[in-house]
Amino acid sequence: MEIMEKSEEDYLMLSGIQHFSFCKRQWALIHVENQWSENLLTVDGEIMHKNAHNPLKSEKRRDRIATHEMSIVSHKLRVVGKCDIVEFHRDDNGVNISGHDGLWRPYPVEYKRGKSKINDCDRLQLCGQAICLEEMLLCDKIEEAAIFYGEPRRREVVALTDELRNQTFSMIQEMNEYYSRGYTPRAKWKRGCRSCSLQNICLPKMPDSHSVKNYIRESLVED
Ligand code: SF4
Repeated sequence: MEIMEKSEEDYLMLSGIQHFSFCKRQWALIHVENQWSENLLTVDGEIMHKNAHNPLKSEKRRDRIATHEMSIVSHKLRVVGKCDIVEFHRDDNGVNISGHDGLWRPYPVEYKRGKSKINDCDRLQLCGQAICLEEMLLCDKIEEAAIFYGEPRRREVVALTDELRNQTFSMIQEMNEYYSRGYTPRAKWKRGCRSCSLQNICLPKMPDSHSVKNYIRESLVED
C-alpha cells in the first residue's frame, strides 16, 4: 500500500478508524476540521474505558505478561495510538522482552463499552493495533487478538485474517488521503445521525452542509 509522505506530527490517530467506519464525515469533522462535541455515549464510553483496565490489572501468570496503555506507531500506515492492554504469551515463535526470559507472542486486547457491533469498526481498530505491534516488535504476524465488551463483560476473540488486514489498510489509506486533501465529505442523513455526538455541528438535514468551516464562513458573509 502506498501512503503519501508526511511528517510524524501529521500521523493520524488509529482510534479514528472507529469514527471513519461509522461515518466518514464524522471522522473528518473531528480529525480534519478539529470539531468535537461530547454526548452521553462518548462520556460514558470514556469512563468505561478508564475503568475497564481493572479486570486484568492484578492478573499475573507465569506464561503471561500484561502491559497497559502501550503507545504504538506504524510508519507504514502513518498512524499512532495506544493499546489498552498488550498481553505477551509465552511462545517459542515470540519475541524477546527486556527483563524476561524466553520468547513472548504479543496479543492486543481492546476494551469497549456496550455490546459487540454488527459492523467491523472495533475489529478494524484492533487489527490496526496488531499491524503497529508487528512493525514495532519486528515479530511474525499476530494471528489473534481480543476485544473486551462491557455488556456483557466478556472477551470476543478476533482472528486477524488477510481480509481484515486488507480492509484495515485500505480504510487507513483513505483516511490519509482525506487528511492530506483536507477533505470533509458532505452530510447525508442516516439512522446513525440520531446518536451522533456531532449532529449539532454537522447539521445533516441542511442542504449542502459539506463543511462546517464553509457554513460558518458563508453565514458570516450573509450577516
Ligand atoms: S450527524 Fe450523521 S452525517 Fe453528520 S457526522 Fe454524524 S453521523 Fe455523520
